[in-house]
Amino acid sequence: MSNIDDQVNEYYNKLLKRNAGEPEFHQAVAEVLDSLKIVLEKDPHYADYGLIQRLCEPERQVMFRVPWVSDNNNVHVSRGFRVQFNSALGPYKGGLRFHPSVNLGIIKFLGFEQIFKNSLTGLPIGGGKGGSDFNPKGRSEGEIMRFCQSFMTELYRHIGEYRDVPAGDIGVGGREIGFLFGQYRRLTNEHESGVLTGKGLTWGGSLVRTEATGYGCVYFTAEMMKEHGESFDGAKVIVSGSGNVAIYAIEKAQQLGATVIGFSDSSGWVETPNGVDVELLKKVKEVDRGRVADYVEQTEGATLHTDGTIWSLTADVALPCATQNELNGEHAQMLVDNGVKYVAEGANMPSTPEAIDVFQENGVHFGPGKAANAGGVATSALEMQQNASRDAWSFEYTDERLHKIMTSIFRRSADTAAEFGREGNYVVGANITGFKKVADAMLAQGVI
Ligand code: NDP
Repeated sequence: MSNIDDQVNEYYNKLLKRNAGEPEFHQAVAEVLDSLKIVLEKDPHYADYGLIQRLCEPERQVMFRVPWVSDNNNVHVSRGFRVQFNSALGPYKGGLRFHPSVNLGIIKFLGFEQIFKNSLTGLPIGGGKGGSDFNPKGRSEGEIMRFCQSFMTELYRHIGEYRDVPAGDIGVGGREIGFLFGQYRRLTNEHESGVLTGKGLTWGGSLVRTEATGYGCVYFTAEMMKEHGESFDGAKVIVSGSGNVAIYAIEKAQQLGATVIGFSDSSGWVETPNGVDVELLKKVKEVDRGRVADYVEQTEGATLHTDGTIWSLTADVALPCATQNELNGEHAQMLVDNGVKYVAEGANMPSTPEAIDVFQENGVHFGPGKAANAGGVATSALEMQQNASRDAWSFEYTDERLHKIMTSIFRRSADTAAEFGREGNYVVGANITGFKKVADAMLAQGVI
């Protein structure tokens, strides 16, 4: 083992001890550190000044009580989090997740990934993430509004246009951003539109933000396919999830001529051999807030499954767009056995390390989340630009900017992988590209 291996293993073992019980955070750090070994071999100065240890330690972590009253007058106490991981490149930027599985380790994994993703976009944004273990499912609109107001009553003192700019994630869409923004405005007596992204179009929101993560994931995948002389036209595609990212990944893939043969939610998965009726899916999920069974009931040719796995379908492309670790080694092997050629992560860390190994060992072209799903945060940064200049860009212009950013993320990840002798390994390429920019900024700014 080389000196660098020893050094990196030592950092990692210390990190495991200092951050016990946070397996998702460990997983995210392990992947990045593994990619960085070849950078440190080539440019040992990146290990100077405790750079790696500082990179893995959040600049600030806030945890707070969120009391709220349900419709039946019961008092509930949820837990709120904001992890401000790294602001070397710009204000902390990253979404808020409301889901019962949320804990500090999950927010730290998401915040850590966000540093490199945001760096990859080429825009001036640092990395952060937040959320709560509040479960919005089955809650009335009034309950959700009161929860958001209580959450913001603490969060507001930690955020700001130049400090930290949250956005949506699982369980936080346009409705929740509206309630959060309203409370921020009330508390501060300022219409500071740059404090949150994902806003409504009449009060500072940007066109394309809703579509951005899903569209961006498809643009990234299309670049991967182009590299190998292929395209979405005529391809069969699996998309897991049916939330914000999944819906717009399905829409764009079908616009480019693909057939999306399956999608899912946590209650089951749907086989759609003739493609997805996107307008119906939007109605079921975005308007009625229904389940996948409601989609199946309202159309023909779609089959609901409540056992087995969506990854057993036969497709050319798989886009996991639901949640972390939803695709394991066994699932990856099924996809490979059925001939999948491209996998790109719309969700954050949906593939386990074993799954990624299976893809890479079998020649599947694999786009990691921090590159493939960076379109959401990139368009959030475009929203910030529009807010700063009090301007509103057209759909076409904003979509074109998104498209160019995704093409550039793909190109730089591919070129960096090749430069380091790992051609086609977009995991290594994305990690190193994202890392170098942040690391250079941190070294320039001294030990802070
Ligand atoms: P949403 O809440 O809109 O949708 C999440 C979807 O995933 C829902 O359909 C949900 O189903 C489904 N899901 C959750 N857990 C499971 C599971 N165990 N099995 C099957 N389906 C499941 O969230 P988003 O679409 O915004 O986020 C999805 C992923 O994309 C997350 O990993 C997020 O971090 C990532 N991401 C999101 C960005 C954004 O701009 N929104 C940006 C970059 C990344 P159900 O409703 O039943 O829970």
